[in-house]
Amino acid sequence: MPIRLLPPEIANKIAAGEVVERPASVVKELVENALDAGATDIQIETREGGRRLIRVADNGSGIPAREAELAFARHATSKIASVEDLAAIRTLGFRGEALASIAAVARVSLLTRAAEDEVGTFLRVEGGQVVQREGRASPRGTTVTVENLFYNVPARLKFLKADATESAHIANVVMRYAIAFPDVHFSLVRDGRLAFQSPGSGRLLDVLAKVFGADTAARLLPVDPAEDASLSPDAKVRVRGYVSEPSLTRSDRDGLMLFVNRRWVQDRSLAYAVIQAYHTMLPEGRFPVAVILLEMDPAEVDVNVHPAKSEVRFRNPSLVFSETQRAVRRVLVAHAPVPEMHMPQPTQAQADTERFRTLSQLGLEAQRTGDTEAVRTPVFQVPERPDPAARRLPPLRVLGQLAQMYIIAEGPDGLYLIDQHAAHERVMYDQLMAQQAAAQVAVQQLLQPLPVELTPLQMSTLEEALGDLAALGFEIEPFGEDTCLVRAVPAAIAGDDIATVLRDTLNELGQEPPPLVQGHRVTAVVACHGAVRAGKTLTVEEMRALVEQLERSEFPRTCPHGRPTVLHLSMGLLAREFGR
Ligand code: ADP
Ligand code: MG
Repeated sequence: MPIRLLPPEIANKIAAGEVVERPASVVKELVENALDAGATDIQIETREGGRRLIRVADNGSGIPAREAELAFARHATSKIASVEDLAAIRTLGFRGEALASIAAVARVSLLTRAAEDEVGTFLRVEGGQVVQREGRASPRGTTVTVENLFYNVPARLKFLKADATESAHIANVVMRYAIAFPDVHFSLVRDGRLAFQSPGSGRLLDVLAKVFGADTAARLLPVDPAEDASLSPDAKVRVRGYVSEPSLTRSDRDGLMLFVNRRWVQDRSLAYAVIQAYHTMLPEGRFPVAVILLEMDPAEVDVNVHPAKSEVRFRNPSLVFSETQRAVRRVLVAHAPVPEMHMPQPTQAQADTERFRTLSQLGLEAQRTGDTEAVRTPVFQVPERPDPAARRLPPLRVLGQLAQMYIIAEGPDGLYLIDQHAAHERVMYDQLMAQQAAAQVAVQQLLQPLPVELTPLQMSTLEEALGDLAALGFEIEPFGEDTCLVRAVPAAIAGDDIATVLRDTLNELGQEPPPLVQGHRVTAVVACHGAVRAGKTLTVEEMRALVEQLERSEFPRTCPHGRPTVLHLSMGLLAREFGR
C-alpha cells in the first residue's frame, strides 16, 4: 500500500482510543472541563453504566457562542498558548483533545452559555461533525450529553464490563474529584437514583465521610502542614490529607488515594512511601486508608506523561517520597508512640483475644444471651475421627504455635507446620460448600439488624453478589443510598466483626478475581475473610480442633486460593540436614 494520510474520522478514532477507554474516562474529561471552568456545582448523570448516556452539567464559565464549534476541534484549548505553558500546568486539561475524542466515538450534544452571551448555544455533533447548531436559552454554564458511547467502535464496545462495573468506575472518578475539590458540590445520579453526593462544604473530612462512610471518617487522623512545626515555611512539597489510625485497615489498597496539585494520580512509589510510614504498625496483608494531597510548584511535576494524565513525573521524586512519608509518620507517631520492636499492635491483639473468647466460649455466650441458635455450628467443633484410609493427612499431634501464625505438629514421619489462616480458610470453605450443597446452611440471626455503611463501589458489588451471599446464609437488604441492613450471617462468622468481614468481602469481590481461586468464588472470599488471621494466639484445644477438621477435608493441603496449608519436614530431611 502506498503511504497516505488517514482520513480525519479514522485518525480521530485512533487518537480517541487513548483518551476514551471506557465510560468513566468520558466522565473524567467532562468533570475536569467543568472544574477548569470554575464550576461550584457539577451534576453527573449516567444510564446503563454510561454506555447509553453520560451527562455532565456545570455552572462554570460557559463557552462563548463564537468558540463553541472550536471546542470540538482537536488540539483546540483555551488553557495553554505556548510550549512554556506546558512546563507549569495549573489546569486539569490542556491537551485540547477530550471533546474531539469523545465526539469521534459517541453522539454528543452541548448546551452552553458564557456570562457575556445573552442566549446560549446548542450544538449537536455526530462522527466528529457538527450536524445542528442553534441559539437556545440556557443558564450560565455548560451541559455536555454523550449518548451511545462507542456506537461506531464495536471493538471497544465488546470490552466494556457489566453496567455495575462501569458504574463503579464512574463513581470512583467522581469521588476522587469530590475529594480533590471539597468546595465543589458533586452529585452522581445513576439510572435515575442518587448514587453519590458531596456536600461542597469545603471540608475534606465531610467528603471522606461520604466516600468511606462516617465510621471510617471518624477514625481518620488529619495530616496538616499548619500543625507540622518541623516543616520549613518554604518547603517545596506540602502534604495534606487524612490517614487512618493503625487499627483501621483494609484488605486492599483502594482506600489509598494520592493527589498532586488536585489531580488524582497513580504512583506506586508514592503509595509505597505512605504504607512504609506505617511500618510495623499494620498487620501483614492489611492496608491503611489514606488520602494524601500533595501541593507543589507546578514546575516540579510533569503531568504530560500519558493522555489520561493519571501518571506524573516528579522532578525530585525522592524529596516528594520522603516528605510524604515524614508527614504521615509524624501524625501516626503523635497518635501512638511506635514501639521499637516488632510487636503486634495492641488494638489488633485486643481484637484477636476478643475473637477467641467468642470462639471458645460460644456455648457460654449463647446461653447468656438466651440465643441458642449460636451454638449450631461452633467454628472449631471437634469432628468424629474419620476413617484412616480416607485421610489425606496423617494424624497429627499439636506441639505448639509459632509466631502466632503456624501450628507446629508432629506426625508419623517428622514435623508439620500448618498455616493457621490457610487451614481455617480451607475448613470454612468446605463447611460452607457442604452446607450449601445440603441446603442446610447454618445461619445466625442477629439479635438486631446491623446497619453497615458501604461505599458506592461496595454497594454495587453487593447488588451483584446478593444472590450468592444469600445462599451462604447472609440476609442483607439495601437500606438507603449508602447503607445495608444485615439481618443474618453464616453461623461460621457469627463471632466476627461482621461489618469488617462484609466490607472486606465486598472489596475483594469488586476486584478482578485472582487466577488461583478454585471452586466457588464468593464462598472462597467469605471463607478467607472469616478465617482466623495470622497474628492470633490459639489455645492448644483450638489448634487441635482445627487440625482435626483439616484432616477431614477432601483437599486438606491447599486453601481455596491454592496456597499450601501444610509444610512437611520429614525425618529423612531432618536426618540429612543434621548430618546423622
Ligand atoms: P482541554 O480541556 O484540554 O482544553 P477539551 O477538548 O476538554 O480540551 O476542551 C476544549 C476547550 O473547550 C477547553 O479548553 C475549554 O475552553 C472549552 N470547554 C470544554 N468544556 C468546557 C466547560 N464545561 N466549560 C467551559 N469551557 C469548556
Ligand atoms: Mg478537557
